[in-house]
Amino acid sequence: MSGYYEILRRAIKKNLRKQLEQGKLITCQYCKKNITLKEFTLDHVIAKSKGGKNKKSNLIIACKNCNERKGNKSLEEFLPLMTKD
Ligand SMILES: [Zn+2]
Repeated sequence: MSGYYEILRRAIKKNLRKQLEQGKLITCQYCKKNITLKEFTLDHVIAKSKGGKNKKSNLIIACKNCNERKGNKSLEEFLPLMTKD
């Protein structure tokens, strides 16, 4: 993962840590589960392999599980799978 993504990821993680300290919860934007900082990943909504950019608008807070399951799928391909379990 290259520069800008790492910077963004770190900034977001810092923010999330603050939220946790304030008693707020982090929610995976895909499965809506509450997650810990350890489970936190930033997923590319449009996969990089499909031209997705390292932009804030293309990144979403997801748990490791969802991030792995989504892989290079588009949202349209992935969301129907989510409702299966
Ligand atoms: Zn999830």
